[in-house]
Amino acid sequence: MSDSTVPVSLNLNIRGMGLSATLAIKSRCKALAAEGKNVIDFGLGQSPFPVPDTVVEALRVAAPEKDYLDVKGLPQLRETIAEFHRKTDQLEATADNVIVGPGSKELMFILQVAFYGEILLPSPCWVSYIPQSRIIGRNHHLIDSSFETDWKITPESLRATIAEVNDDDRPRLLILNYPSNPTGLTYSEDELCALAEVARKYRLIVLSDEIYGQVNHTGNHVSIGRYYPEGTIVSSGLSKWCGAGGWRLGTFVFPPQLRWLCNSMAAIASETYTSVCAPIQYAAIHAFRPDVFIERYLWHSRRILKVLAERSVKILRDAGIRLPMPDGGFYLFLDFTSLRERLERRGIRTSAALCEALLNEAGVAILPGSSFARHSSELTARLSYVDFDGARALSASETIPLDEPLPADFCEHNCERVLDGMGRIAEWAGRE
Ligand code: GLU
Repeated sequence: MSDSTVPVSLNLNIRGMGLSATLAIKSRCKALAAEGKNVIDFGLGQSPFPVPDTVVEALRVAAPEKDYLDVKGLPQLRETIAEFHRKTDQLEATADNVIVGPGSKELMFILQVAFYGEILLPSPCWVSYIPQSRIIGRNHHLIDSSFETDWKITPESLRATIAEVNDDDRPRLLILNYPSNPTGLTYSEDELCALAEVARKYRLIVLSDEIYGQVNHTGNHVSIGRYYPEGTIVSSGLSKWCGAGGWRLGTFVFPPQLRWLCNSMAAIASETYTSVCAPIQYAAIHAFRPDVFIERYLWHSRRILKVLAERSVKILRDAGIRLPMPDGGFYLFLDFTSLRERLERRGIRTSAALCEALLNEAGVAILPGSSFARHSSELTARLSYVDFDGARALSASETIPLDEPLPADFCEHNCERVLDGMGRIAEWAGRE
C-alpha cells in the first residue's frame, strides 16, 4: 500500500520562511492581550491616526462601485496622484506613468519580478525587502551603515557595494527609504544630491520608498526624484500618512524613461490581482487632492509624532540606550550596545534574545535589528511608538493653535501607553 499522504513539496526559495516579522509580532501581541496580559505593542508599524473623515465619507459614497477598474488604476485617481507628485515633489509625473496597487508592498514585489538585475539595499532596511527578493530568487547586496553615519548610506558606501561586482554596466535596483523604516531618519538635500550623482554614474534604477514622506515631522520632505528624475520611481500610498494601512492602496510614479518597467508591472498585475478594490480607489482621490482638511490633519499628526519622539528618546537615552532623534514617521532605532555586559550576564547576546526577554519580562513588544538586515549579535531593535489612541490625540491637538507648541503634559494625557512602554524599557534595561 502506498502512503496516501500528500507530499510536502515547496518552492526552494520559500522553504523555512515564516510570517513577516511585523505581522507575526502583531498576532503575538493580540494573543497575549486575549490572555489578559497588558502588553505595550511597539511591534507593527501601523499609523495610530484615523483615516480623515472626508476620505471615509468618500468611501461610503463609493461603496456601490463594483466594476473592475483599469489595471494601472482609476484614471482620475492616477491623474490626482500625478498632480500630487508634480506639486509636492516637483516630479514631471503623468497619469500614464502611475500605477496603483494593493499596497506599495505588492508593487515592490512585482517590480522585483519584472526587473532583471541585482538589488541593492541599505542596512538596516525594512523587513520585507530581503524576503521579497529571496522569494523571486534575486541576488541582493547590502550597503552597510552605522550609528555614527546616522544609519544612512553614503556615496562612498554605495560605490563600495557597487564595486564588489566588477561590472559597471550590470543592471541594478537601489531601494532607498526615507524617512526610514526602521530608523526614522531622513536624507538632507545635499545627501540626496550626492547619492543621485552616484546613481546616475552607474545608471541605477532607484526605487525611492517615500511612504513616510508626508509624516516628515517638519513637513519638509524632499524626494531624490528631484535630483535623479530619469532613474527614480517614487513609491507612496495611503498606509502611513493617511492612517489607512488596512485599505491596501499603494502608488508608484515612474519617469517616462522607465515606462517599460511600469508597463511590464501592469502586465503582471493583469495576470494576478487585476486591479485594486474599486471603492478604495474612488475614495483615495480625496486623500491625494489638495485639501485644507487633510493639510491640517497632517500638521497635527506631525506635531504629535514629533513631540512624542522627543519625550521617548529622552527617556531611553537616560536609561543608557543609544538612539538618534527621528526626522519623520513613527519609528525609533534603539542600540543597547553600551549595556552589552549587563545584558550578557542575563544571557542576552542577540537582538532576538533581547526582544524576547523584553516582551516576557517587561511586557513590551519591539522587533530585533536582525529583522532589519542587521547582524544577529548587534544589540539593535526597532520600536514603533504607535500604541496610543490617535483619534483622541488628534482631537486634543486640534484645540491648540498650530503655531503654539503642545503643552508639556500633552503626552501624559494623550499617549500614556507610549510613556508607560518607554518607562518599562528603561526600568528593564537598568536591571542587573
Ligand atoms: N510597514 C509596517 C512595518 O514595518 C508593516 C506593514 C506590512 O508589513 O505590511 O511595521
